[in-house]
Amino acid sequence: MKVKYLDLPKQFKDEELWVALREQFETCQFVLGPEVEKFESNFARLCCIPFAVGLNSGTDAIFLALKALGIDSGDEVITAPNSFVATAGAIMATGAKPVFVDVGPDYNINVELIERAISKKTKAILPVHLTGNPAEMHKIMDISQRKGLYVVEDAAQAVGASIEGQPVGSFGDVGCFSLHPLKNLNVCGDGGVLTTGSKEIYEKVRLLRNHGLKNRDEIEFFGYNSRLDTIQAAIANHFITNLKSLTEKRRSNAQIYDSELKDLYNFITLPPRKNSVYQVFHTYVIQAKNRNKLINYLNRHGVEIKIHYPIPIHLQKPCQKKLGYKRGDFPVCEQQSEQILTLPIHQYLKKENIYYTIDLITKFYRSR
Ligand SMILES: *Cc1c(COP(=O)(O)O)cnc(C)c1O
Repeated sequence: MKVKYLDLPKQFKDEELWVALREQFETCQFVLGPEVEKFESNFARLCCIPFAVGLNSGTDAIFLALKALGIDSGDEVITAPNSFVATAGAIMATGAKPVFVDVGPDYNINVELIERAISKKTKAILPVHLTGNPAEMHKIMDISQRKGLYVVEDAAQAVGASIEGQPVGSFGDVGCFSLHPLKNLNVCGDGGVLTTGSKEIYEKVRLLRNHGLKNRDEIEFFGYNSRLDTIQAAIANHFITNLKSLTEKRRSNAQIYDSELKDLYNFITLPPRKNSVYQVFHTYVIQAKNRNKLINYLNRHGVEIKIHYPIPIHLQKPCQKKLGYKRGDFPVCEQQSEQILTLPIHQYLKKENIYYTIDLITKFYRSR
C-alpha cells in the first residue's frame, strides 16, 4: 500500500473549482479587485476579526506585519527556534534580530522563558502556532501588555484553530497566515493573508502591499509588491467553504492515531492535547525512539514521512555566523528535532491507510 503525505491532485480534481476559475478568465481582472476583497471578508469573518489583507505569501504577511508596526534594524523580536525558517527570515528582512526562546513539550514557545529574553531593544513577541496547535496566547498577551510589546502571531499552520472558541490570528496585534499548497487552506502557488483588529495597521498594510499607492498615481511612501493574486483568491474562496469539514477530517484522523498508538508510550510521544483548544492538525507530529530507523522502515513500506523540522533555525548557518547561536542553546528544541517525525494526516486518507501505518509502527517496535 502507498500512503501519500498529501494528495493535491485529488484536491484539484474539483469541477466546481474549475467553473469558478473559468469566470476569472472571462473577466480577466488578474490584480486585486472584488475577488480579493471577497476573500478578505471571508477570511476576516473566519477569524472573527474586523480586517484581513490578502498578500503574496505567509512570509510577507509576517514581514509586512512587522513593517506596519514600525519594527526596524536595531530592534529585537522574540520567537521560537523550531519553526519553519520563514518566521526568523521575515524578522531578519526587516533588519531586526530574532531572539529565540526554547519551546515546551507542546512544541510552542515556552511562556515561562519569555520574560528573561526581553531587553531594551525588544519590540514584539512572535509566537508560532506550530502543527496547528495554538500557543499559550492568554499568557503571551499578559506579558506583552505588562511589558508594552507588540504581538504578531505566526498562524501559518493554524488556520481555523482556536482557544476557548477564539480563533488564532485574533489575539495579537496581527495574525499571519499562509495559503501555500501544503497548508490547510491552500491555493495553487504562493499566497498569504494577514488579520488585524486595527484599522490603522489594516490601512498601512494595504498600502505597503501595493507600492504605497493611495490612488492610481500617487504614493504615500515607497512600499512593496506583495498582492494576493486574484486567481489565487478565487481558489481560496472556493476551498474556504470546505475548511470546516477538512479540519474535522484531520482531527478525526488524529483521534485514530491517538487511540491506536497510545499503548506504545514506551517508544513514542503523541501530540499534546488540551480540552480548551481546537487543534487543526496541519501536521501530526510524534516523537519516536529510533526515529531514523522507523522513518526508513515506514518509507520502505510505502508510507511517506516528513520531519518538521530536522534543523532548528538557530543551528542554521546564518544564525550561527551572524547571530552567534550554537548547539546547546535550546536543549528542548534540539532534543525534539532529533526525535520528531510527521505522519500523514490529510483529509483524503482512508481509514485503511491510517490502520496500515499504525500496524507498521506497532510491528516495528514489537519486533525489537
Ligand atoms: C509555511 C510557513 C510560513 C511561510 O509561509 P509561506 O506562505 O510559505 O511564505 C511561515 N511560518 C510557518 C510556521 C509556516 O509553516
